[in-house]
Amino acid sequence: MKKNLITVTSPLLPNLDELNLLLKQIWDSKWITNNGQFHKQLEHDLAEYLGVPYISLFTNGTLPLLTALQAFRITGEVITTPYSFVATTHSIWWNGCKPVFVDIDPTTGNINPGNIEAAITPKTTAIMPVHVYGKPCDTEHIQEIADRYGLKVIYDAAHAFGVKVDGESILNAGDISTLSFHATKVYNTIEGGAMVMHDEATKKRIDYLKNFGFAGETEVVGPGINSKVDEVRSVYGLLNLRQVDAAIEARRQVAIRYREVLRNVAGVSFMEDIPGVRHNYSYFPIFIDAETYGTTRDDLYMKMKVANVLGRRYFYPLISEFSTYRGLPSASRENLPNAHKMADSVICLPMHHELSEEDIQRILELIVK
Ligand SMILES: *Cc1c(COP(=O)(O)O)cnc(C)c1O
Repeated sequence: MKKNLITVTSPLLPNLDELNLLLKQIWDSKWITNNGQFHKQLEHDLAEYLGVPYISLFTNGTLPLLTALQAFRITGEVITTPYSFVATTHSIWWNGCKPVFVDIDPTTGNINPGNIEAAITPKTTAIMPVHVYGKPCDTEHIQEIADRYGLKVIYDAAHAFGVKVDGESILNAGDISTLSFHATKVYNTIEGGAMVMHDEATKKRIDYLKNFGFAGETEVVGPGINSKVDEVRSVYGLLNLRQVDAAIEARRQVAIRYREVLRNVAGVSFMEDIPGVRHNYSYFPIFIDAETYGTTRDDLYMKMKVANVLGRRYFYPLISEFSTYRGLPSASRENLPNAHKMADSVICLPMHHELSEEDIQRILELIVK
């Protein structure tokens, strides 16, 4: 008999009775979208929870990326990483800019600051790094380069909800950071996202842009878009915020169990926690060295699939390998050796707050020989 399906992720869901009570309040008020009371409260509570000065809600994690580039009038070339979800590069393209891929650090999976300078040309205007798996980028080094060349830094922090370095939110790095609250992420509002900024003036401008550029009833101050979050998803978000710490702790326990066992498996490596960092355990990537392990990454991936355990090959293929972007000069394999190595060896193991000890055993037994 086939065992039950273990999915790679499972959404954090609010309690239905609590949700119902809040939905009743929305229904009674008849204010269902456009910066309603729960929208305002969620922005307030998220800023407090995350430890950031200003935040604007968005309807997903892609639109704040698009809007950030638009807000800063970014043109020309934007330096980015191929080791991410495809939305990172799409946002650059949708702004009429040219993505320039730079190789990653082989241990963190994040853009290697040491490779950035060589990719800068007179057309470069911004850097878009990603905190992959929620592991912090080398933000100091990136900022130093940005300051020297006068570049904006927009972090795709879709994986980095709640991540802190020495008590400081990683979302405060750079000029702007963006979050995704998609159902597959640590914290979700079904679909949703946000942008984090440093000052009130930027928040004001962003809030205009996410509402078609309207600044008041009769004035449009920019080519805006619609990314307004409704009241239903706002209350869903408020309820999930109350339980996200418990979910992160449950994920941490899963990571501890995985590491305990996988530490002794030759040919399998994983990322350790970094001292001083508050991790969110958004993903648990393992890396297969086929020669030592004796099985290829894809064979293990298939073996898990057949056993009804779903891993994900995040991020394979690299963004630079998709036909849309393969033609870019920076997409060449020789330019991105570390990214290719990681993409070819990675499997993200199931990671969420509801994995049972039995599930974890089943997953580990498939990997341990
Ligand atoms: C999920 C994700 C996005 C896109 O977020 P959506 O909410 O799905 O639009 C962007 N970048 C990265 C790195 C992601 O993982």
